[in-house]
Amino acid sequence: MRKNERRIDLPRAADAHLRFIGQIRTPWTDRSQCPRQGALDGPECRLVLDPIWEPALAGLEAYARIEVLYWLDRSRRDLLTQSPKSDGATTGTFSLRSPVRPNPIGTSLVRLERIEGCDVVVRGLDCLDRTPLLDIKPDRCAYTPQVPPKA
Ligand code: SAM
Repeated sequence: MRKNERRIDLPRAADAHLRFIGQIRTPWTDRSQCPRQGALDGPECRLVLDPIWEPALAGLEAYARIEVLYWLDRSRRDLLTQSPKSDGATTGTFSLRSPVRPNPIGTSLVRLERIEGCDVVVRGLDCLDRTPLLDIKPDRCAYTPQVPPKA
């Protein structure tokens, strides 16, 4: 822990029955190489879905950008306040986009490059290789006009 950080003993977790739908393949195996936030012109990354979810991708190709939700599985979850390395100032966990949070969910708006079977190739991620994938949602402001979005 860093200066002024506070932690708690976590209460027992409720079971939300979260289901990982696949994993994310990225070039980064080490936090020191991983960007803090992704860039739309960053390297290609691959959302590798469990094949049972392939039909659920139908229609996604109409969107130029999609939102990806993932589980930052290598994070601690017990900090109330944090002192980020970048400036050292202490602040509350909920005022940060740090991976350290009670439910370490990461979200990124990424560029959809292409879909190959049950792999979705994107640019704009910032997670370690093999991060579990929680969900994919279209960015409704980024659909290709020739293909109207579904409700
Ligand atoms: N874009 C997401 C967001 O805002 O919710 C995540 C931002 S978070 C600052 C990104 C950082 O989390 C990376 O730079 C890396 O240090 C860390 N990280 C990435 N993948 C992780 C994983 N699977 N488990 C724990 N930490 C991870």
